[in-house]
Amino acid sequence: MANIAYPPSYYAASANPAPARPALREDTEADVCVVGAGYTGLSSALFLLEQGFSVVVLEAARVGFGASGRNGGQIVNSYSRDIDVIERSVGQQQARLFGEMAFEGGRIIRERVARYNIDCDLKDGGVFAALSAKQMGHLEAQQRLWERYGNKRLELLDQRRIREVAGTDQYVGGLLDMSGGHIHPLNLALGEAAAVESLGGRIFEQSGVTRIDRGANPVVHTAQGKVRAKFVIVAGNAYLGNLIPELAAKSMPCGTQVIATEPLSSDLAASLLPQDYCVEDCNYLLDYYRLSADKRLIFGGGVVYGARDPANIESIIRPKLLKVFPQLKQVKIDYAWTGNFLLTLSRLPQVGRLGDTVYYSQGCSGHGVTYTHLAGKIIAEALRGQAERFDAFAGLPHYPFPGGRALGAPLTALAAWYYSLRDKFGV
Ligand SMILES: Cc1cc2nc3c(=O)[nH]c(=O)nc-3n(C[C@H](O)[C@H](O)[C@H](O)COP(=O)(O)OP(=O)(O)OC[C@H]3O[C@@H](n4cnc5c(N)ncnc54)[C@H](O)[C@@H]3O)c2cc1C
Repeated sequence: MANIAYPPSYYAASANPAPARPALREDTEADVCVVGAGYTGLSSALFLLEQGFSVVVLEAARVGFGASGRNGGQIVNSYSRDIDVIERSVGQQQARLFGEMAFEGGRIIRERVARYNIDCDLKDGGVFAALSAKQMGHLEAQQRLWERYGNKRLELLDQRRIREVAGTDQYVGGLLDMSGGHIHPLNLALGEAAAVESLGGRIFEQSGVTRIDRGANPVVHTAQGKVRAKFVIVAGNAYLGNLIPELAAKSMPCGTQVIATEPLSSDLAASLLPQDYCVEDCNYLLDYYRLSADKRLIFGGGVVYGARDPANIESIIRPKLLKVFPQLKQVKIDYAWTGNFLLTLSRLPQVGRLGDTVYYSQGCSGHGVTYTHLAGKIIAEALRGQAERFDAFAGLPHYPFPGGRALGAPLTALAAWYYSLRDKFGV
């Protein structure tokens, strides 16, 4: 079978050198077999190795081939639904656990970068930008909520202040979170993979898992080999397909697109984002952007089903970019790519066990850079017998998409359209 390469993107073009790992061609054993080398799989592997477990990671394509190597690179705290929504569904006491965990993923990333010397252009500072007074009201409430859960690195920005951090007249204000920030996402994944191997973990690429025999002694099969393990962690997220039908039923892969401009002059780049913070607006179908280390504007937005061709992607995203920064009219787009995140109906992560030995975490629904790093930690805790935090997530209710994936995609497209109207008319 032909090897699966990274799809063309700015990240693939600017990736740090990394070895092409071999495919699994043997029968082997480990304490833990991880399916998928995105942030969820790599973070789990790293925490487990640090605690003395032996780990094999099986990746269908390349390290960071999925969302982890294609995303906007924004370190956004909390979850795709905020803690107040969780408070309403699980009660105050349980919600406190979620609140305490909401800012941990960003700390884990920074700790990983420092400990393993990962070169991924890490920058501090992320801005939530309000397009209306109503959205500004939500940000004020978010500040109070996040401060209550311990994030004291927040600053509300009025219209004058936000103009100082984002060179556009689009916004009425914003919220700056200095514990947010941005990274080169593929280089973070590649650095974490190198860290996994430095601790003795084995990673096999081009090794799609075709079957998992569940039970007391699970066996994970690929086309040319198998891994016997005490535990299996399923971390295939939106790229898992139907390997585990009960997980597929409660989640929906969604395509979302990103473009990268040609490198901008230092003056132009500094006029767009003078402090080099990343920005996301407060719409449901949000626009988000930041500068790369070589001063390209990386801009993503919207959810489009099936848009793959770069020209098509540029035609979707460029108008959004020009709405925010009309001054970039003459700027060339060098790269356009698409990636899949996994949506759940509640927009909260889906976490749990299949029997006693197979664990999973998936479905962060758009904001996953921080949560996936936390996921690795709570899975490792659970495998060590400390499952309180894992079980808090596992206890969140999840419902199947009506009609399953076949009907769910059009329904989700309809929901996206509905939310785009809400964004447009501010209702
Ligand atoms: C375009 C885009 C922009 C985004 N921007 C942001 C952002 O700026 N900030 C933010 O917080 N979040 C963002 N996200 C979401 C975030 O990237 C994801 O939530 C996160 O990366 C998911 O990580 P993961 O490890 O769970 O999944 P993935 O990174 O998708 O990794 C899953 C891996 O499993 C592998 N796999 C699947 N099936 C198998 C199998 N059967 N056998 C072996 N391997 C398998 C895949 O090949 C893949 O490498 C974005 C997502 C996309 C798509």
